[in-house]
Amino acid sequence: MIEKRQFYINGEWVDPVTANDHEVIDPSTEEACAVISLGSSADVDKAVAAAKAAFPAWMKTDPAERIALAEKILEVYGARKDDMAKAISMEMGAPIDLSSSAQWGAGYAHTKNFIRAAKSFEFIRPLGDHAPNDRIVYEGFGVCALITPWNWPMNQITLKVIAALIAGCTMVLKPSEESPLNAIIFAEIMHEAGVPAGVFNLVNGDGAGVGSALTGHEDVDMVSFTGSTRAGVAISQNAAATLKKVHLELGGKGANVIFADADDKAVKRGVMHMMNNSGQSCNAPSRMLVQRERYDAAVEEAAAAANMVQVGPASQEGRHIGPVVNEAQFNKIQGLIQAGIDEGARLVAGGTGRPEGMNRGYFVKPTVFADATNQMTIAREEIFGPVLTMIPFDTIEDAIEIANDTPYGLTNYVQTQDAEKANRMALSLRSGMVEMNGQPRGAGSPFGGMKASGNGREGGVWGLEDFMEVKAVSGWD
Ligand code: NAD
Repeated sequence: MIEKRQFYINGEWVDPVTANDHEVIDPSTEEACAVISLGSSADVDKAVAAAKAAFPAWMKTDPAERIALAEKILEVYGARKDDMAKAISMEMGAPIDLSSSAQWGAGYAHTKNFIRAAKSFEFIRPLGDHAPNDRIVYEGFGVCALITPWNWPMNQITLKVIAALIAGCTMVLKPSEESPLNAIIFAEIMHEAGVPAGVFNLVNGDGAGVGSALTGHEDVDMVSFTGSTRAGVAISQNAAATLKKVHLELGGKGANVIFADADDKAVKRGVMHMMNNSGQSCNAPSRMLVQRERYDAAVEEAAAAANMVQVGPASQEGRHIGPVVNEAQFNKIQGLIQAGIDEGARLVAGGTGRPEGMNRGYFVKPTVFADATNQMTIAREEIFGPVLTMIPFDTIEDAIEIANDTPYGLTNYVQTQDAEKANRMALSLRSGMVEMNGQPRGAGSPFGGMKASGNGREGGVWGLEDFMEVKAVSGWD
């Protein structure tokens, strides 16, 4: 059993102020795989004090120095791929092939993209020819609390930590208590890369303890949070008393709009995208809207595609999906599948219970519902499991209305070979991102949501700017 009880504060590994053991459960086996500590407000005080002390000097470093440090981090991160991937698989259940590719790779790509964006970023720039002595100065926002979820852990950690570091901020990271092991490896990477003491700190803990101590702390200037909309509301309220800047990356209920003229692979691609990471992605295309002419065939295709998806433990190599993260999520998903049946949607693949032959582990059957309405629970709630909801539509106007009729606004998807229709959809959908015809967004493009999916953007130049103050200076010589 792995034992990692210490926190990383002010450049060294330290014991928690008060012992409070927490077992990390491997969702493939339901057995404890590690013991960590859950911190308290006393640990948060120490970490915030270290970050506060480090900030004035770090903020004034030459951006080139911070970029060079990020390059070193990238190098060390590359060397830790195997143990990072193993930790991710063990603690949150992603199959090892996914952990060592997209899960680990997202962290690598974001770090690279931030370095690229920062190299051409003008940290001090002229206002314009009309005001020749004015300068706009971009500088680190201050001490940041970075709170992350478990579903794509290195993706979210690097989106925050690397951007904050290059921007000139100091920080305390609180990863999810479900996936602390990869964050501990990440802290080792930061140490080995030579991040100065106090610039990056790690305190493990849960939302009620460390999370709320950080978001209410008077010496924290900014909170960057990724997680559920419910926790986003609690964090905003807690941070309001000290007027912190709060950046929120929250849930989603993306629509994948498939027009009759979509390419042949559109339905299967949508199902596979939905099932990826066992449906545990904020930008999962969880509502498949299909134009009536193609609807019956699409339902058959989607059911067949879901029935082909293999389910297996995270340690097993090959293409399959793993368990969902924990017992609470497993039970919640079972309840939502039952709600779909009770409310009258037509179950065409999967259903409640574990896949055949699996008695242990939080494995969920790849499930598809057809003939749903957009008012059903399965179309409104973020399920965060391998469950697809199919809804027919007639006209482009209907598609826009159904897609936008959700509290969320993170990512929508459009499948059509008609460019004019595609562009009209892109301009009508109320979401931070629109992906068309299976084409992934380019490296360094902004990631974030509208409405209940949050505010602000992560990644690339937008992600850097989010961690900076903008200072207007006149009379510059
Ligand atoms: P969660 O909200 O339960 O927890 C996320 C993090 O917040 C954890 O570290 C948790 O300990 C902490 N936390 C919880 N309550 C808190 C509180 N009151 N104060 C401070 N911290 C608190 O979410 P989760 O189950 O870990 O992750 C799944 C959710 O994250 C889904 O809703 C998903 O859509 C969302 N998500 C969003 C994005 C995005 O970029 N928009 C990306 C990934 C996941």
